[in-house]
Amino acid sequence: MKIATSRQPVVLPDDKEVLACLNSVFGFKSFRSPQDQIVSHVLQKKDALAIMPTGGGKSLCYQLPALLIPGVSIVISPLIALMKDQVDGLRLLGVEAEFLNSTLSASEQAAVFSRIENGTTKLVYMAPERLLADSGYLINRLKSLQVGLFAIDEAHCISQWGHDFRPEYLQLGRLKDEFPDTPVLALTATADKLTRADILEKLNLNHPATFISSFNRPNIDYHIREKYDHYQGLLDFLKDRPDESGIVYCLSRKGTEETAEFLRENGYDALHYHAGMPRDERDDHQNRFIKDQVKIMCATIAFGMGIDKSNVRFVVHIDLPKNIENYYQETGRAGRDGLPSTALLFFGYGDVIKLKRFVENDKDIEHSDIMLNKLDRMADFCQTRQCRRQFLLNYFDEAHAGNCDSCDNCLGQTDTFDATILTQKVISAVARLDQNFGIGYVVDFLRGSQSQRIRENHKALKTYGVGADTSADEWKKYIRQLIVDGFLSQEGQPYPILKVTAKGWDMVKGEEKVLLTKVKVVKKKEKSTVDYDKALFELLRKERLTIAQSLDLPPFMVLHDSVLVEMSSIFPRNEDQLWNVSGLGSAKIQRFGNQFLAIINTYCDTHNISTEPQAITPKKRPKKAKKSGPSKTSETSFLLHQEGLSIEEIASKRKLAPTTVNQHLCEFVKIGEILPEALVEKTRVLTIRSAFEKAGYDVLSVAKNALGDDYSYNELRIVQQRLIFEALDKKGLFQ
Ligand code: ADP
Ligand code: ZN
Repeated sequence: MKIATSRQPVVLPDDKEVLACLNSVFGFKSFRSPQDQIVSHVLQKKDALAIMPTGGGKSLCYQLPALLIPGVSIVISPLIALMKDQVDGLRLLGVEAEFLNSTLSASEQAAVFSRIENGTTKLVYMAPERLLADSGYLINRLKSLQVGLFAIDEAHCISQWGHDFRPEYLQLGRLKDEFPDTPVLALTATADKLTRADILEKLNLNHPATFISSFNRPNIDYHIREKYDHYQGLLDFLKDRPDESGIVYCLSRKGTEETAEFLRENGYDALHYHAGMPRDERDDHQNRFIKDQVKIMCATIAFGMGIDKSNVRFVVHIDLPKNIENYYQETGRAGRDGLPSTALLFFGYGDVIKLKRFVENDKDIEHSDIMLNKLDRMADFCQTRQCRRQFLLNYFDEAHAGNCDSCDNCLGQTDTFDATILTQKVISAVARLDQNFGIGYVVDFLRGSQSQRIRENHKALKTYGVGADTSADEWKKYIRQLIVDGFLSQEGQPYPILKVTAKGWDMVKGEEKVLLTKVKVVKKKEKSTVDYDKALFELLRKERLTIAQSLDLPPFMVLHDSVLVEMSSIFPRNEDQLWNVSGLGSAKIQRFGNQFLAIINTYCDTHNISTEPQAITPKKRPKKAKKSGPSKTSETSFLLHQEGLSIEEIASKRKLAPTTVNQHLCEFVKIGEILPEALVEKTRVLTIRSAFEKAGYDVLSVAKNALGDDYSYNELRIVQQRLIFEALDKKGLFQ
């Protein structure tokens, strides 16, 4: 584990210290673009706006600098419900983090604040209204501390142009006046230019740089199916993924309940979620989904904002989203862990008509024109024969060469043919039959059936029998596609009859070419997934669930699915080899490593799996955590300490707070240059050590609570640094 102390803030992007922190705390081997640029920019105390898609890795852009910059960093987020999770997640990484929001009582908030003032906290999450409440009281308190960085998450909330405007964000414009020297990093997944410019302006940023990453989500496959018997379609889809977790989006609240019930009746583990449910029930359903206790959530769009679950393997849209922005956002909830995931949408033209009606009821005409336009683009996306990924990215002004090999169009699941004549035949048949008959009758009529069912006067019509060369099944399939594509519609229950829509009449009159999809056997895509041992994965998953339950945390927070997949693929047999697994940092290795190693070792032994120990050489393990060393100011305090001055004496001599001097000296404890006993009475060191042995030393507050007020954070921190030294020393990092 690496805890920042007072280091020099200017660090180059390839600086070993940054990489060592990335490796040892977060367990990642390398940055994703443009994380490295953002981190380096922020470390140089410059303002920036980062635009990255969901799952792109925004949090690392402020969490990592926060550990390296002296002082505490403040993260502003509108998602109160997520703060606790984020803080829990950081603590699992061994990072001291806190949150301040309205879910805490006044005394809890006071306790949090005193921990912050103690100087050990590196990150504090809060909502904007909290930061700015009580006429700047909190701002003034923060001014007496060293604030290293302000990270403004979901920064689009500051803009009226965004989809989630929050007036309280506007006040964040004051931050640069109050803290002119503290860098501000704004982050959002909203790409549109208007919102982007608005964020920069409203936040008053100082010569900001903007970093935009690609919006491509290569691990998500995009598929559209016609919306016909889509419940059966959903079952077919789920059949191949019995253990996977996913979201099924429905337009209406009733739809979510019915779909969940249907899935339960068919043996799937599903719940529903919408804004009309009682709060308790809603929270309960969400919780069960996040904790992997239930696999499938059937939900309205109310579900998802603030869902950080990383192992969502599929997102299905039973109904059409209103626009591409929503579709992209919702499908983006799949595969945050980077593993292959699927987005499937059932498209029917009926949905377009339904949504159009909603929009047309909007009194604001200008607004509704924009919405209609967006809806048309959504329908275009569903009907296009172009690479869907290319279409999506082009929509967001990003180029893509197409041929992604992971959308239905590129996989050849939609082989099309010119169906103009065929369509004209159907439409004229429906018209000749006075738009009074259902699909079955129209098909028999087209095929020239001799059946008694066909009326004699119909047999005399010109279109009777014009489609004899096509089988009844194929005809039905094509007619369904024409309904989906909006040339025909069905009306009336329980025996729906075919009608020609306005689009259909235009088609017969005009010269528009109609393309339909050939009935075809679907070519299965060779997934480019890592080959991993599924049985071992299941064992590891069970272990993770047990750990998660004992900590009352969602399993993915303990370890991502991708970590388990990698373990089941490279079979790490010892701690050294665990360092090779992406997503495993020192805190998690220390805390959970042995449990997982025990399972892997037993599994490998009983299944005769031999892994060449040399085949896996740890690549990312930080060799010398000591490298960058203490800063100049810390060295000054160290020299005074060597002269025999106490912490208090050094503090008063240097006109610094004792806590600051304590931090300086801690840097030397951490590298073994000072023994804790030189700073804290020996018996107290022993007591603190034994408290850490019980509670772990990752998060000071746990041991502190056990020890009580008699012991200060400063003392705990000194002993903690010694333990870190011993752990690193044992691993040979100081050799
Ligand atoms: P966002 O906030 O942009 O939606 P997150 O910060 O939640 O995305 O990150 C998404 C996922 O990517 C997380 O599982 C995170 O652990 C992982 N991740 C982030 N940065 C890296 C990296 N450099 N290497 C590997 N995984 C990463
Ligand atoms: Zn494609």
